[in-house]
Amino acid sequence: MKPFSIVIHGGAGTILKEDMTPELEKAYIQGLETSINKGYDILEKGGTAVEAIRAAIVLLEDNVLFNAGRGAVFTKKGVQEMDAAIMNGANLEAGSVTGVRNVRNPIELAYEVMANSNHVFLSGKGANDFAIKQKLKLEPDEYFFSKFRYDQWREIRDSDNYSLDHTHQDLAELMKDKKFGTVGAVALDQHGNIAAATSTGGMTNKKYGRIGDSPIIGAGTYANNKTCAISCTGHGEPFIRAVAAHDVNALMEYKGYSLQDAMHEVVHHRLPLLKGEGGMIGVDAQGNTDMVFNSAGMYRAMRNSQGIQTTGIYKD
Ligand code: ASP
Repeated sequence: MKPFSIVIHGGAGTILKEDMTPELEKAYIQGLETSINKGYDILEKGGTAVEAIRAAIVLLEDNVLFNAGRGAVFTKKGVQEMDAAIMNGANLEAGSVTGVRNVRNPIELAYEVMANSNHVFLSGKGANDFAIKQKLKLEPDEYFFSKFRYDQWREIRDSDNYSLDHTHQDLAELMKDKKFGTVGAVALDQHGNIAAATSTGGMTNKKYGRIGDSPIIGAGTYANNKTCAISCTGHGEPFIRAVAAHDVNALMEYKGYSLQDAMHEVVHHRLPLLKGEGGMIGVDAQGNTDMVFNSAGMYRAMRNSQGIQTTGIYKD
């Protein structure tokens, strides 16, 4: 059997053990493990990396604990506007969407953009119209309502702040009991192909149609069989300015870095220069994987055909 691997994340931020209850911790771990095992099963049966990461992300989008799909955070206007992207490292095809509403699984819409539109990046109403045309599942606003997201937004909606729990010191303090996160997945399949995907509600209280790094190919999501598949999470603005995911690719392609060295360079040296807090997951075509973050924690899991499986939340 050829080697295969899958890695997922459920967001990075100020995630501290002392702020977590045992029940919540268990629920997060269960959510991560259900998702990684689903993706792994697809890879084990010979499915593609694209199929595996889509399926893994759909489960995370359906889980209200994560800031994607059902659990997406509230914007300044009190609605959910979701972003998602997917990229196939075998042919560099990509699809992404931004500012979509009421679509149950934005990652499926990003996939439809990649597979069935002549475009790469769709936004807002146009993206929603395309979701309807492709007969994707839509949900009413109530489906996306959760009390803890609403409370999280209510605390800052009258301010100009926008937040995930690791953006600003004062907000980190304010938000510290409410952990949440973008979701992402990367995988290598038995055919030797890699792929990456990311899905998010963005940042609480975002306004003016703000777009984060997640749906921007090269910033939050990137895949190329020659180098790596990367999905990022964190404060999106510095990740966009650092072109973080593609920077890992560039270090590998032009400088011969290993996956691990390139990810460490970007997360621990380049992003901090822009005050970029967060992390990323990665895989290469040999099946090497890594999960690197410069924040207090990152929800994460990996599993590969060598029988290695890990799940983590905090720094080791
Ligand atoms: N990077 C995402 C954004 O800025 C948020 C996150 O990773 O939680 O929209």
